[in-house]
Amino acid sequence: MKALFPNSAWVPALEKFIIARGRLKSVRLKVRYGVILHPEHGPVLIDTGYTSHALIGSRRSAALRLYSRILGPVLNPVGQPTAVLAALGCKPEDVKTIIVTHFHADHVSGLRDFPNARFVVDGDAWAHVSSASAVANLRHGVFDELLPDDFKDRMVPLGSCPDTAMGRDVFGDGSLITVALPGHAVGHFGVWINTAPRPVFYAVDAQWLRKAAVEHRTVGYPARLIMDDFGAYKRSSDLVAQQIAQGKDVVFCHDPEDGPFDYQGPPE
Ligand SMILES: [Zn+2]
Repeated sequence: MKALFPNSAWVPALEKFIIARGRLKSVRLKVRYGVILHPEHGPVLIDTGYTSHALIGSRRSAALRLYSRILGPVLNPVGQPTAVLAALGCKPEDVKTIIVTHFHADHVSGLRDFPNARFVVDGDAWAHVSSASAVANLRHGVFDELLPDDFKDRMVPLGSCPDTAMGRDVFGDGSLITVALPGHAVGHFGVWINTAPRPVFYAVDAQWLRKAAVEHRTVGYPARLIMDDFGAYKRSSDLVAQQIAQGKDVVFCHDPEDGPFDYQGPPE
């Protein structure tokens, strides 16, 4: 089984807003998502990153336009999910499973491109976003217009997947095990991916920067205003830092540094 992490877009951010004692300097965050080539289940995505649906589409709501204008993401055409899948010889229709770690716009904006996919989601996360007001969702960067109209019918709650000591076993074969990483968003979780020769842990948004986890430099305000639970966020970050200290391979969604699991583009 192979796992890669393409970068869908770059988002500028002031370092002092994403790491404690950071500089007044802009960094270019990446917006990764996971692509797993599963021997039985075919191409599986973990989130989709940013796509044109969030950033360009003419049918976007005023709120979504404003949101993308403020954040200013720049799409990476080569790292778009449909482009990456095409380079791997797959069509969007081939994707039968997308694991949705949480509902922030930079994680779900490509879901509409996969007509045959079922969406593995945390039941609490879904209950929360589907019952929250538009204003509450806006504050957390959630826009239900990015979800396919039949999202609810195609949803697979994590609670229906086999339970293990670590978390839920998505396919019941040990290939993908979820791990709760609460705090960043309701129901936010990471995924252990059992690639050979050693597994990799996708820690998603447990921190923006790897350095912030390793050096215990979780930033306070204003970032904590968008967190679901700041105390839980810090504990999740420490959990991931422990994995890194134990020598495990860990990938974050937004860390700007290149990593060994990053997708390098189509073969020349
Ligand atoms: Zn997020």
